[in-house]
Amino acid sequence: MVKDTKLYDILEVSPDASDSELKKAYRKLALKYHPDKNPNTADKFKEIGHAFEILSDREKRDIYDQLGEEGLANDGGMGGMSAEDLFSSFFGGNVFGGGRSRQGPRKGKNLKHVLKVSLEDLYLGKTSKLSLNKNVICSKCEGRGGKEGAVKKCSTCNGTGVRVLLRTLGPMVQQIQQPCDNCGGEGEIIKDKDKCKNCTGKKIVSERKVLEVHIDKGMKNGQEITFSGEADQSPGIEPGDVIIQIEEKPHERFQRRGNNLYYTAKINLLTALAGGQFAVKHLDDRYLVVTIEPGEVIKPGQLKAIPHHGMPSHRFHEPGTLYIQFDIEFPPSNWADKQVIMSLEGILPSRPKLDVPPDAMIEDVELTTMNDEQQRSASNNMANGEEEEEGHGPSVQCAQQ
Ligand SMILES: [Zn+2]
Ligand SMILES: [Zn+2]
Repeated sequence: MVKDTKLYDILEVSPDASDSELKKAYRKLALKYHPDKNPNTADKFKEIGHAFEILSDREKRDIYDQLGEEGLANDGGMGGMSAEDLFSSFFGGNVFGGGRSRQGPRKGKNLKHVLKVSLEDLYLGKTSKLSLNKNVICSKCEGRGGKEGAVKKCSTCNGTGVRVLLRTLGPMVQQIQQPCDNCGGEGEIIKDKDKCKNCTGKKIVSERKVLEVHIDKGMKNGQEITFSGEADQSPGIEPGDVIIQIEEKPHERFQRRGNNLYYTAKINLLTALAGGQFAVKHLDDRYLVVTIEPGEVIKPGQLKAIPHHGMPSHRFHEPGTLYIQFDIEFPPSNWADKQVIMSLEGILPSRPKLDVPPDAMIEDVELTTMNDEQQRSASNNMANGEEEEEGHGPSVQCAQQ
């Protein structure tokens, strides 16, 4: 004789039920009363879990049989496990499918969009209009899909949109989930004549929306602008965000690194040696006029800086540096007659003496001029650590064959 049959009654078994009878009873009732299927039976579901937790434990069951629930009072009633945890550990995983989230409403997908922006627009700032099509909740039926009261919960799946079939294979229970075929997985049914005319019962309609994208001065490649909750709407979910990602277009005159700009200035040899002026057309169409004082010599590849004329920093708009790299244009061969060239000897620093020891063996050699392809190949070889490529450029082997 047991003291109290309450827990056995909850599981609808007799007090002499075997372990496997208890399991079977729990399986049947837990599925029937799970709150995912029916939110009104949450308490019943907890009760079933509590009863099973005790009766499936040999030791606790003995205490219960002899002393009733008071005997287990020290045990804290429900023990460590919630009814939900017990259920998942018993069935292993999410039986009723991914439809339910336990932390607030589900969030919809974010929509990412790449916006190509010119360096000019990143320098000056700009507001771009971007239009997109998005789904919004139908305003005629307020997302119900039909007249109030016309929407009926699907009786086949009890509103879950999912049917769970359990197949017993020996000691294993296999679960098979299928979308409900009666309601097409929607969980509810609207008669054709009651469907909202505006959205034909779909609850959402497509709408064109124009977003004003404010590109702030100094924004960088890859930076994102988020429009919170502007992605597709759908009943029962929190809409995702529209995320605009900036892609900086390459520029023909400037290269940008952080808040600094790099510009290659081409000046001629006279300017490099004797001073002069050159102009840099900036991103706002201003011309920066730069003077090189006579006497200063600019060398090829030399880098100089113009402070405070780079890109503005984001937020504080603190300007970076504009770096000028010099490319010096030399006059072409035979640019002047012999006499003019001789006169350079009186102007430029004199030639250094030939650096050859007096007792060295001497051989006169000739410099040949290479064509463009030969030059390219020669400098490639120098960069790659020579050799490798065959059949390119000035091939001595080829000439010998
Ligand atoms: Zn509607
Ligand atoms: Zn259904």
